Amino acid sequence: MDWKITEEQQLLLESCDQFIAQMKEKGYDAEYFRDCDHKMRYPVEYMAELMQSGIGTLGIPEEHGGGGVDAVTLMLVAEHMGRQGYDSGASTALSITDMLEFGSPEQVAFVSNNIKTGKGGFSLGITEPGAGSDNNAMTTTATENADGTITINGTKSFITNGDISDYLLVVARDAEPVDPKLWASMWFVPVNAKGVTTSPMKKIGWKDKGNMCEVHFDNVVVDKSALVGKRGHGFIQLMKNFEIERLVCAVGALAIAEHAMDYAAAYTSQRVAFGKTIGSFQLIQEMLCENEIEIMNMRNMVLQVASMFDNKESIRIEVNLCKYYVARAACKVVDNCLQIMGGIGYIDDCPISKDYRDVRAYRIGAGTDQIMIHIAGRLLVKKYAQK
Ligand SMILES: Cc1cc2nc3c(=O)[nH]c(=O)nc-3n(C[C@H](O)[C@H](O)[C@H](O)COP(=O)(O)OP(=O)(O)OC[C@H]3O[C@@H](n4cnc5c(N)ncnc54)[C@H](O)[C@@H]3O)c2cc1C
Repeated sequence: MDWKITEEQQLLLESCDQFIAQMKEKGYDAEYFRDCDHKMRYPVEYMAELMQSGIGTLGIPEEHGGGGVDAVTLMLVAEHMGRQGYDSGASTALSITDMLEFGSPEQVAFVSNNIKTGKGGFSLGITEPGAGSDNNAMTTTATENADGTITINGTKSFITNGDISDYLLVVARDAEPVDPKLWASMWFVPVNAKGVTTSPMKKIGWKDKGNMCEVHFDNVVVDKSALVGKRGHGFIQLMKNFEIERLVCAVGALAIAEHAMDYAAAYTSQRVAFGKTIGSFQLIQEMLCENEIEIMNMRNMVLQVASMFDNKESIRIEVNLCKYYVARAACKVVDNCLQIMGGIGYIDDCPISKDYRDVRAYRIGAGTDQIMIHIAGRLLVKKYAQK
């Protein structure tokens, strides 16, 4: 496939470079992000700049004040900025699309404004200690009271920024489902509501994406207006934008791989061993070649699936295969890059050590490798049975 970018896309990428240059001048440089990483601190000031510049909201539909760009353009921007170590905001912006689509006018107004503060709108509460891949095992329950209010009880785990967000978008089991198949609803719960408590979980990577915690709901009472979308439709609503979210995960992993490759490949012309630059050794060249092949494959796959999405083709199989392949290939590329760096790659200050910790999360978050196979595998059996 020919991935020649259009003149418009080229101009957009140039404006991303100008934005990055401005951010560096303001002090949002590698040192700033390293500090966020060490302190497990969400780079809220940088994210606010990103959202207000319009780059961070490129993936949000125009009717909600975003750029409304197509998926291919969104992937190009995310790759271009991520490769330079800068978040493009694509995943943050897309994380609020369910709310923009299904929320009440008040909820939509809140998240549209909150995202501009750099805080990210809200935290998403799906996973539970006993229900990760298997969401059906969820036990957090929403019970309707006689006065029409709702009481939520249960625990959510691995919640990114669960203790610093203003709100949580919680998916909970309905105590009295409207239909046995429609058993979960979405609730927009203030983090400071009575009965909400959190306990921290210490991550090994993605530290500059904010902290992580368990969130406990102990008889938390919310008004019925906290419902997001339709009663019983929590999962259907959640699944609506899952495919594009998985694509954004894939491009995130690709960008980290390219960031590591740029750094490690340049190092091969600088580092001397046995009187020669290490790039002259064939075993180092082999790792560079393997990495380049993986990067070409990953990039082609991401752009192809994005292009299918833009053409309104089904990507149900392809997006799961894409996330599966890209997350694993990116881990392999970054591992090779760390090997190329030798001991310095294992030192905390080396950018590749952060890439190494961060890239691993893509094989778990937004669905594990095994769940990607679980979804795509069954669909492939059906697809080929029909041929
Ligand atoms: C960095 C990070 C950020 C996250 N942020 C959030 C967040 O903000 N909000 C939120 O709700 N969640 C979040 N999560 C949770 C994430 O979605 C879950 O960790 C993920 O869905 C897997 O669930 P689990 O950890 O319970 O693993 P489990 O489901 O217990 O899986 C354990 C192992 O069993 C395998 N497995 C499970 N089922 C099958 C099967 N059918 N076939 C084959 N193998 C199977 C899995 O692949 C895995 O290898 C985050 C996770 C990470 C790592």
